[in-house]
Amino acid sequence: MSHNAESTAFRSALEVIRAVEPRVADAIGVELTDQRESLKLIASENYASPATLLAMGNWFSDKYAEGTVGRRFYAGCQNVDTVEALAAEHARELFGAAHAYVQPHSGIDANLVAFWAVLADRVESPALKKAQVRQVNDLTEADWFALRRELGNQRMLGMSLDAGGHLTHGFRPNISGKMFDQRSYGTDPATGLIDYDRVAEAAREFKPLILVGGYSAYPRKVNFRILREIADSVGATFMVDMAHFAGLVAGKVFTGDFDPVPHAHIVTTTTHKSLRGPRGGMVLCQPELADQVDRGCPMVLGGPLPHVMAAKAVALAEARRPDFADYAQRIVDNAQALADGLLRRGATLVTGGTDNHLVLIDVSGYGLTGRQAEQALLDSGIVTNRNSVPQDPNGAWYTSGIRIGTPALTTRGLGTAEMDQTAELIHTVLTQTTAGANADGTPSKAKYTLDADLADKIARQATDLLAPHPLYPGIDLA
Ligand SMILES: *Cc1c(COP(=O)(O)O)cnc(C)c1O
Repeated sequence: MSHNAESTAFRSALEVIRAVEPRVADAIGVELTDQRESLKLIASENYASPATLLAMGNWFSDKYAEGTVGRRFYAGCQNVDTVEALAAEHARELFGAAHAYVQPHSGIDANLVAFWAVLADRVESPALKKAQVRQVNDLTEADWFALRRELGNQRMLGMSLDAGGHLTHGFRPNISGKMFDQRSYGTDPATGLIDYDRVAEAAREFKPLILVGGYSAYPRKVNFRILREIADSVGATFMVDMAHFAGLVAGKVFTGDFDPVPHAHIVTTTTHKSLRGPRGGMVLCQPELADQVDRGCPMVLGGPLPHVMAAKAVALAEARRPDFADYAQRIVDNAQALADGLLRRGATLVTGGTDNHLVLIDVSGYGLTGRQAEQALLDSGIVTNRNSVPQDPNGAWYTSGIRIGTPALTTRGLGTAEMDQTAELIHTVLTQTTAGANADGTPSKAKYTLDADLADKIARQATDLLAPHPLYPGIDLA
């Protein structure tokens, strides 16, 4: 691939956009500059390849394609069929999955599809069974009433939010926490690790319909074989949300007990985090759930996005290449180097380290809240996000943690030596930041002071770290 082709493609695209609304073209250009200059440690973000980005910017966006490959509610979907079938095939091959559904628009949408599929498959509801085998017009008002009653209040057991679980795993701000009767399993307070005996105990007591594994902020491997055994012991469907670590599964860093695909009945994911594809979601499942999963659109999803499915096919093809396995291993090597660098300088890490792509710093050791730390780091050119730690005394808004992840910087080509330097920058900012006070003298959870010259100096050092590793080296918009 000549670099020239990438530059030409994006320059021409911007020229076309500029002729209509120059401010949009400008914003796209500035976004590239900003992304190039920032030390991005947001664990859920990455940089998709130019091929993936370009696959999204075209007339596939114009097609309606409700239904599934070969069974559409719209005419003229033969080319959409081609890309959707390709994306699904790459997904099945990459993950060794029996079935792949590539229409979900995001990770949350993929979870909605999965919840619906499990409810439809598992709930003992005569009214629901009727609704599935008959024309819905044949159902009486009493049937519908029964259906609504029987579908609600089903039980879900997932990882607690402050231990690293996701909102969609049954938590109140999300529909899953309103529709489902939810319990959660946490981590051992002493080690920060999942205590599988406690999960088994909670499952025995609660008898969930769905046991959910997966996380957004847990820095360790999860043993999915054990979770499946627990699910089986209580007759639960085992669902894994691998949104964060799908790239590590794809790259065969997580294998055996740590690969969710052979163990779970149903697996959901995003495609844009460590998997490095376009923004989107995906569901993988065992054959018995495939029919229900394929009803995702229009059951819970809006019309498919054919341009994004094209980009998923491209990104999944990239993830099947041998260099992706190397990338996935480097993500973990980098996270471990970052963790070691922080530990050596005296930081406190949840679980004392990492074996995946993320590190969770407990910043209370620096006398800060997550919010103060996040903002002070941002002032210094280091982009992270605040996150709860287990049993967080500061709640979900201020928090006591900073979550950092390495997928994005690894894509740029930074290695373990640069991770140690990054640890030095982070540690310096956090030690030099002091918590502020409110007007009445009480400690503030948001205010802080950090010397502006120091912040500038750190930001310059961060830029220097990035300089040898340009983002999108093949794209020159000038
Ligand atoms: C990021 C994430 C999601 C949500 O993905 P979106 O694409 O933002 O909808 C769902 N589950 C987990 C575990 C996540 O980390």
